[in-house]
Amino acid sequence: MPEGHTVHRLAAAFDRAFGGQRVRTSSPQGRFSEAAQLDGMVLLGAEAVGKHLFLSVAPARDVDRGSSAVRFVHVHLGLYGSWTFAGDPGFSDAHAIGAPRLRIGEQEEGLDADGSGAADAVGTADWRRLVPRPTVRLRIAGHRGIADLTGPTACEVLDADGRRAVLDRLGPDPLRPDPDGRERRRFVEAVRRSRTTIGALLMNQKVVAGIGNIYRAELLFRARLDPSVPGRDLSAGMCEGMWEDLVALMAYGARTGRIVTTQPEHRAIEARLVERSRGTRQNGDEDPSVVPREESFYVYHRQTLPCRLCGTVVCSADLAGRTVFWCPRCQSVRSRRAAWTREHPAAPWALEPGPRAAAV
Ligand SMILES: [Zn+2]
Repeated sequence: MPEGHTVHRLAAAFDRAFGGQRVRTSSPQGRFSEAAQLDGMVLLGAEAVGKHLFLSVAPARDVDRGSSAVRFVHVHLGLYGSWTFAGDPGFSDAHAIGAPRLRIGEQEEGLDADGSGAADAVGTADWRRLVPRPTVRLRIAGHRGIADLTGPTACEVLDADGRRAVLDRLGPDPLRPDPDGRERRRFVEAVRRSRTTIGALLMNQKVVAGIGNIYRAELLFRARLDPSVPGRDLSAGMCEGMWEDLVALMAYGARTGRIVTTQPEHRAIEARLVERSRGTRQNGDEDPSVVPREESFYVYHRQTLPCRLCGTVVCSADLAGRTVFWCPRCQSVRSRRAAWTREHPAAPWALEPGPRAAAV
């Protein structure tokens, strides 16, 4: 499932690709009948909140965004959904977020195993003649390209009240601007009033919107927190530190399309180790200038391998329906008094043009 940083990149890509344009919409699969009502409307803009994408559309370009004539196409990709873009060379270059297959909505694992090889066909100059696969729920066509949506958990048309209802069910999103710290306080309060384990709370989109299994495991490691500690046992300082760390990690992810949580000094591991990040594919894996995925994580999918810091074998277990990974030795913090003590920001690469810049 794409984590929130990918959905924010998607929103930016939609803005650049279709913003202000009159678009054609269709549902080749036939399961999104509202596509016919939207056909010919103007796509005003795109917005990401957590893992939710909203495309606002209106009958004309000059319609006020607060007008009751505005509708919102609400999409949640879920575990299996993806967007595929194709278009003119300029269009493809600008939006090749899912490179090298021009797939937007990269998944944590199994990209090659899902059999959707049709994505290879996109990105050609002949995009106007591309016949959609019969599984395409929604096709959006603009002047310079198309976007095909397949397999989403949600694809619906909402009015302003419907959009608000979705937002009201979501917790704070670390990628949304938070000038007065209100979002951070919402997170801290939601964690500290709960008896639920922090490992489960981080997967609850009402507590924090947009994070998924990779960020959960990595954030807990970076906080040195035991995933089974109840939220209410954590200090406010620890929760604030986690939030700030999450903001930095996800901002880096939104900028680069990649999740990298390791400090440069922790990346090198003994050559005899065979890393297995189990097919966790990320954008730019073929690019030698980026941190390879087998060096990108501390614990995610590193179960049975030695911890990068202490050498203890990394564990895995089911928590809140998804596998959580942790180092039982490093992640021993359980106390209400525990503070976020490590040097912060602990992500110097977040300020650099590329992750490698800090590694050399
Ligand atoms: Zn360790």
